[in-house]
Amino acid sequence: MGFRCGEAIPMRDEHRARIESMIFDPSRSAVVFFLAGALAGLAVLPGWQGPHRSLVIMLVLIACAFLGAGIWWAFGDRIAAWGLQVSLLISTVIVSVAAAIGPSVHVNFSVLYIWAAVYASLYFRPVTAVLQIGFAGIAYLVVLLTAHSSWRSLVVTWASTFGTAIVLSVVVAGLVSLLRKSSREDPLTRLANRRAWDERLDEEMERAVRNRLPLSLAVIDIDNFKAVNDRDGHQAGDRLLRRFADGWVGIVRGSGDFLARLGGDEFGLLAPGSNNDGLQAIVERLREISPDNVSCSIGTATWDRGETAADLFRRADEAMYLAKHTSRET
Ligand code: GH3
Ligand code: MG
Repeated sequence: MGFRCGEAIPMRDEHRARIESMIFDPSRSAVVFFLAGALAGLAVLPGWQGPHRSLVIMLVLIACAFLGAGIWWAFGDRIAAWGLQVSLLISTVIVSVAAAIGPSVHVNFSVLYIWAAVYASLYFRPVTAVLQIGFAGIAYLVVLLTAHSSWRSLVVTWASTFGTAIVLSVVVAGLVSLLRKSSREDPLTRLANRRAWDERLDEEMERAVRNRLPLSLAVIDIDNFKAVNDRDGHQAGDRLLRRFADGWVGIVRGSGDFLARLGGDEFGLLAPGSNNDGLQAIVERLREISPDNVSCSIGTATWDRGETAADLFRRADEAMYLAKHTSRET
């Protein structure tokens, strides 16, 4: 997955970003998960008819779930990303044991179906996850049809199980997409970062081969950027980077071209479907952006259909350095 530059702009909307972080913040989501598990455990306790030993195990599981919620609540900000994966593994153990000792076959089924839905939204693409949840819903309906006597209780049982499954899946899918997005986004400019650039370059090369289309790219480096930092301070340098990025985003928005910050004051533009002439036209427009009269050097290369992505990038990078030195000498 990649970002088109045009997608970067809405993320600047701080209000939306705040709402997203409230809903999809990893530690808060983990707290919700553990609490949901604990409450689900508590819900099956009234009228427990299973063996006493199973009841004790169930109480221990509920306590573990509350403990998990407490740990994520208190230390969530300090738990590393892999902590979420470990929590999921622990949750799988808890869910499996709970399903094995649950008081009725319907409770056990619903626990497993909800868990399958959560996992589907975590690891599958959206369409596959929706299909998986849909098929699980049908399967559970069939299970209920074979046993339930009253239509009313069948509908209530089915709807509550799949209502829970869908709410949890939406939270998980949102969380995953936010994590994926933030791991591919440069926090300063909100452009795609180097990782997203590398992935997108590979994808576009495959597409260019498949559809027999040209592919061009440009490497852009701001001139004498260090002097801005030294003269006006690092924050002024940051502001300049953002102004360049915003200006370029405005130019390429809606064009299908892909802009990324490759690191420091170096940026990349990928122009799928463009030959050298097409790319030069875009580059001329990018050059019009020069906040505070700061210029940039741009090197371009069009794929020769034989070279690797790394070779194509190297050619554009070398062209950029050549342009920088030539402009200094003149
Ligand atoms: P040239 O004209 O040859 O490109 O030289 P330059 O002064 O632009 O410097 P160069 O490209 O070699 O180095 C880029 C500098 O950008 C080095 C580093 O201190 C600074 N830099 C890197 N990342 C950031 C950042 O996120 N914010 C700010 N303010 N400065 C950064
Ligand atoms: Mg530079």
